[in-house]
Amino acid sequence: MSTPRHDAQGRRSFARTAYDAVPLYDPKRAPVELDLTDNTNLWGMPPAAERAWRDAPVSRITRYPTLYAAELKQALAGYVGVSPDMIVTGCGSDDILDSAMRAFGEPGDVVAGPEPSFAMIPIFARMNALTYAGCVELPSHQPDLDALLATKPALLYLCSPNNPTGTLLARATIERALREAPGVVLLDEAYAEFAGVSAIDLVAHSDRLLVIRTMSKAFGLAGLRIGYAVGQPSLVMDVEKSRGPYKLNAMAEHAAAVALQQDMPWVEEHVALAVTLRERLADALRARGFAPLASHANFVCVPVPDCVDVGQALRAHGVAVRPFPALPHIGDTLRISVGPWSMLERFLAAFDDVMTARRTT
Ligand SMILES: *Cc1c(COP(=O)(O)O)cnc(C)c1O
Repeated sequence: MSTPRHDAQGRRSFARTAYDAVPLYDPKRAPVELDLTDNTNLWGMPPAAERAWRDAPVSRITRYPTLYAAELKQALAGYVGVSPDMIVTGCGSDDILDSAMRAFGEPGDVVAGPEPSFAMIPIFARMNALTYAGCVELPSHQPDLDALLATKPALLYLCSPNNPTGTLLARATIERALREAPGVVLLDEAYAEFAGVSAIDLVAHSDRLLVIRTMSKAFGLAGLRIGYAVGQPSLVMDVEKSRGPYKLNAMAEHAAAVALQQDMPWVEEHVALAVTLRERLADALRARGFAPLASHANFVCVPVPDCVDVGQALRAHGVAVRPFPALPHIGDTLRISVGPWSMLERFLAAFDDVMTARRTT
């Protein structure tokens, strides 16, 4: 037990000491007319899943969910092409990442990850009394595997396509990580649908690989909190134990299974649209003299000086995008979620206004 002490604000804290470095997650997401900050599906919810949600029997609310999400696991297994015992579900892929750190790291062990990448990784590491080691990516935007491996991580986190850059990891990098990492490799594929490629097949050859996926992005179900991971059965079972039973609610679980069973045409149509419009947005930015990074996800990452101020000014125009100040090798950057073209036109109009005003003052 840690003895009560006083935090930076002078409040008494009874939490474990690592929690002094754990902030509440606050991406400064005040409500705004057009929100292009979180890479969710801006076309809405898949139709069969929506019907399943509306028509649910009351017993789905009054009774406990199934213990280990058998129906959903079956549907996910069919979707990614593995057997159901190679799937673990979670309350969002965040829950999988958190549970995996608890399962595979002893307190004090190292979680290594590339910088920049998913902002929650250092937070989950500290929440689980692990040490986070961030290693700046290479100028090519690929992870610096030498630096990452040198930290001797119990958990090595990789993200492909990476958030916030949109970069797809080289297959050889993932394969080398699997050969040389001393512990578990967490490969976050939250945006794999938009890339059209996945490393899930490598799971057959590696007992240390956990590929983490979500239904929050391509499937338009972020509010339902459905995440999952694919790995060999023993690895997946350790995550299952660490996460514990009843973490997915029955409504979400069923709607997600229905989406996988009946809504694939809708999902595929909107993934294809997002990919087309992502390139159209990148072209529009290039035409304005900017140099967006090549993206394999449903967002565009574009270097823009003074990105925080520009982001504030865009908010004043009713449009929110996510600024990432001072990224290594890149500098100040905006990350823009891709949605229907009408939304992107609205963003571009606001962006033109803001940049013109900044040039003339
Ligand atoms: C959005 C996102 C997640 C979180 O997904 P949830 O399933 O909604 O928790 C995980 N990893 C990356 C890289 C993301 O961008």
